[in-house]
Amino acid sequence: MKWERLLSIPILAVFLLMGFVYYTTLFVSIEDWVGLQSSGGSFHALAFTFLASYSLFSFFVCVLTDPGHVPSSYVPDVEDRELSDQEFRRNVTHQRKCEICSTYKPRRCHHCRTCRRCVLRMDHHCRWINNCVGYWNYKAFFILVLVATVASIYSTILFIACARQKDWEVWGQSHFKALYVTCGISVLGLSITLGSLLCWHIYLMANNMTTIEYYEAVRARWLARKSGQSYRHPFNLGVYRNVTSVLGPNMLKWLLPTAVSHLKDGISFRIAHDTRQTA
Ligand SMILES: [Zn+2]
Ligand SMILES: [Zn+2]
Repeated sequence: MKWERLLSIPILAVFLLMGFVYYTTLFVSIEDWVGLQSSGGSFHALAFTFLASYSLFSFFVCVLTDPGHVPSSYVPDVEDRELSDQEFRRNVTHQRKCEICSTYKPRRCHHCRTCRRCVLRMDHHCRWINNCVGYWNYKAFFILVLVATVASIYSTILFIACARQKDWEVWGQSHFKALYVTCGISVLGLSITLGSLLCWHIYLMANNMTTIEYYEAVRARWLARKSGQSYRHPFNLGVYRNVTSVLGPNMLKWLLPTAVSHLKDGISFRIAHDTRQTA
């Protein structure tokens, strides 16, 4: 069933884009710059093929991994120390119930209208992977964005190197000019788009936030300021702990999208002690 996720137009578009960038990088940029047969050309072709393969592998992991569903037996922990107040306990228990699925939602879990179910530590629904980005595939998603950004910047550098040594007096009028302009705009646009997305997710990871929680925090911060308080994101444990909670404690496995043995159940999360402080 999960293989059916591959049958979507956005995913086909991603494959076509990957194929286009790979073809033009090797057979236009590198070939025209130093030639694929040269030692320098072979090195760049191999390095770029590695990055492209890594991106493709991470992409498959993102698409085919279940982001995390709520166990049917799940009920909120009413003995939670944060829920000691009766009124607050009732409110939170009510808020944590999904009206559509008719089940309780653990913390950080949200209902995805596209997937039509609740997803653990939901970040967002990504149409380009035809899947939610959640607890079990967020690491793969981050690595996909990271490696694809590096590959795009690498492709842009190779394109610039190729374009700089070209004699545009001769080539400028030919039909190749349109191909070069298309390649240049594609890889540069891709680098900027993916680079921006990477910066955004580095910020989120450093703060142990999901995209949904970021927007919730904007509102919570505004409300706290109105009542003379300051707001601190409850799951923010410090940059190093935040990063290791996603990538894992072993730095050697940080870039392996399938190394997720450090993940637990996606239901309970460590929280910082001082979630609210008087300003
Ligand atoms: Zn739901
Ligand atoms: Zn979804």
